[in-house]
Amino acid sequence: MKNDTICALSTPAGAGGVAVIRVSGDNSRFFAEKMFAPAGRTAVKDFEPYRMYTGEFDAGDFKDFGMLVLFHAPKSYTGEDMAEFHVHGGVAVVRGMLKRLADLGCRSAERGEFTRRAFLNGKLSLSSAEGLIDIINSESEGEIRAGYSLYREKLKGKIDALQAELKAVLAEIGAALDYPDEVGEEGVKERAAAAFSRVRAAVTALKDSYFIGSRLAGGVKVGIVGKPNVGKSSLLNALLRCDKAIVSEYAGTTRDVVEGSAVYNGVKFGFKDTAGIRETENAVERVGVERSKKVLEEADILVVVLDGSEPLAKEDREILSLTAGRNRIVAANKSDLGGAAEAAEISISAKSGENIDKLTEMLFNRTIGAGVDVNGEFLSEQRHYEALCRALAALDLAEAALSGPLEMVFSEAETCWRVLGEITGETASEDIVEEIFSRFCVGK
Ligand code: GDP
Repeated sequence: MKNDTICALSTPAGAGGVAVIRVSGDNSRFFAEKMFAPAGRTAVKDFEPYRMYTGEFDAGDFKDFGMLVLFHAPKSYTGEDMAEFHVHGGVAVVRGMLKRLADLGCRSAERGEFTRRAFLNGKLSLSSAEGLIDIINSESEGEIRAGYSLYREKLKGKIDALQAELKAVLAEIGAALDYPDEVGEEGVKERAAAAFSRVRAAVTALKDSYFIGSRLAGGVKVGIVGKPNVGKSSLLNALLRCDKAIVSEYAGTTRDVVEGSAVYNGVKFGFKDTAGIRETENAVERVGVERSKKVLEEADILVVVLDGSEPLAKEDREILSLTAGRNRIVAANKSDLGGAAEAAEISISAKSGENIDKLTEMLFNRTIGAGVDVNGEFLSEQRHYEALCRALAALDLAEAALSGPLEMVFSEAETCWRVLGEITGETASEDIVEEIFSRFCVGK
């Protein structure tokens, strides 16, 4: 059956210098021939693939001058024949071109449909597609690095190797079960045990790297807590004033959680300034308190702010005891006014900027780690983490089964093999695939 041909705008919607419309499917060249008149002498049907040609696009109601490039299956992003229309990035230009494509019978792509086709055509794994989503949505270098490593199939390489190890065990057990007389069980369990322990070590190391990997890729959550007027909002502003502050949303009232994020050493730090965590009778204030508590629970690290120019108040002590045992930095603010709260580890001034860099460094060191190579390889996706946990559980059962009949060992080892394959998509269910591609935007 002929593959239907899809099209979508692949650059962001809105005015821009150039907009790229991509077409993928068996009829890509047909649409290109219909809509493009080359400036040179070569006809579209004789175009070399992977080469840009200038010419005139005809959208029916108007014309635009641009460039066309053709890709031949299977050497294209989707693995199908593709065409890219490079037109001027006007909203009406794009709308008109897409309408013309639709009139000629080309269907609008669904979210992630180009990448889904690439996956179905074996051009990339599921984990690679997830990496692509991370790159597209990146706001920090850490997110790009984590996404790129997945996109370039680094994780797939490791998972494939582990699956191959298990496959060898499965083959050996299968042979021993099928041909008990010829092959026999001699040494099979010992070799399986050795393979399981190698797989366990590798899976555990990968799983453990998620702790830092999730923070590198998803950002570090920092909660700023303290009684009113110690300078939490001022500190938030000081922390965001760094060169790379990327967002700062002000929710408005002092009772809300105010937040913003900034990038340090390539890692995104999301800051939330909590309004208050005291019990209160006031209904409006209580909503704020509930939100603040949530921020507290979700934070990877807390900055407990005290007013260093004043003695500790009862409320300060309450907050200190409430946050004791948490990953936290106690900071005495307003160092410009002199004095320093006795309970604090660092003296800062949100106003003069004193020690704000030092505080940032402490935040980095206590969440990512001082010596951590942020360019290293880490597990970054929760879905992969959960699959590795299930693979370890299956491995536990496989190892326990070694004291019994080989059939049981086979069955548990096979489960482990299958669960690992969910990561790359080799054995992923339709639901998982569906969910992942729904996270894409249209045009990718
Ligand atoms: P919040 O209620 O904890 O968010 O506190 P704010 O950030 O609103 O600050 C309360 C007051 O303390 C404001 O008048 C700030 O200008 C002042 N303030 C904040 N940080 C400093 C500081 O480092 N030094 C001095 N002198 N005043 C500060």
